Amino acid sequence: MSGQAVRRKLQKKPESTTDKRKYEPHKLTASTHGQGELILREEPLLRIPTEVTTYSPGALLLSALAGLSPRQRESFYNLSYVNLPSDTLPGTEEYNDHLALAIFQTNAVATGDKVGLFPRMARINHGCSSAFNSIYTWRENEGVLVIHALKPIKMGEELLTTYLDTKRPRVERQQHLRQHYGFECQCAVCSLSDSASAESDKRLSKMAELYARFSTWQHGDLTGKEAIDIAREIWVTGEKEGYWSERGQLAADAALVAAAHSDKDAVRAWAELAKKWYTYEVGADSEQVRWIREVLANPIKHQMWGSREEEIVGSPGPELKL
Ligand SMILES: [Zn+2]
Repeated sequence: MSGQAVRRKLQKKPESTTDKRKYEPHKLTASTHGQGELILREEPLLRIPTEVTTYSPGALLLSALAGLSPRQRESFYNLSYVNLPSDTLPGTEEYNDHLALAIFQTNAVATGDKVGLFPRMARINHGCSSAFNSIYTWRENEGVLVIHALKPIKMGEELLTTYLDTKRPRVERQQHLRQHYGFECQCAVCSLSDSASAESDKRLSKMAELYARFSTWQHGDLTGKEAIDIAREIWVTGEKEGYWSERGQLAADAALVAAAHSDKDAVRAWAELAKKWYTYEVGADSEQVRWIREVLANPIKHQMWGSREEEIVGSPGPELKL
């Protein structure tokens, strides 16, 4: 998810902030959801281009807001915000400009080449690492944001998604969340004892490092087998941590490596795993699942097929069959 990058681009760092309406711990609880079940499907209230060319993104936002119905505008102004500059007077045009921008920046998410605001989705709180149980995805071709249950969710359990890549130590995650969203994260992972948190930090940092190493395969720095061994290690480390997100993508990337090295059995095995986890994370009716089904049906049609030296790279192995 590239939401963070987009948010940064729009972020105007204020010199001071007033946090009148910090994130309230209004818990959004769920009814029972099976893994991969659709929890929410929402059209954007508004979307604005990522590349804001105007000198005032707030003005652009205000004109988009002017096009909404009174009820839609109300749902916008009911959202939380942080980082509102305190040097403007309420009621002035400048204040309204800053307020709209603060609300937008606090709640908006990346949607293709635009940034969108989804009032219902915006009310789902954040959890780090193993604490989040749902994933949001923008579907460009349908023009909607969908949220799926990454993990089985029990009745009454809080629905949590993730606002950032949480594969980093607690101190860094918390600093980011404090700065950009104005709250102290008290999720199950951030609430671990110091020793348990240090173990979790180690696993998360290890995953981030392994992902970085895995990506060097594309520059020819790893053999296919080395890359696949790393993918497996990421998976196993994630299992220990309870971090299940991005597994569809990871398995699909492993299938790509296998295809490049012409290992048909490995392509099938990784693609099978990718199908399973893409289904949980982005939905059975997603483009990703459609595409991976095609790979499964005919591995040698994979666009990377045979583009590298022939090699037996290896399948996921029994430890990954979850
Ligand atoms: Zn947390």
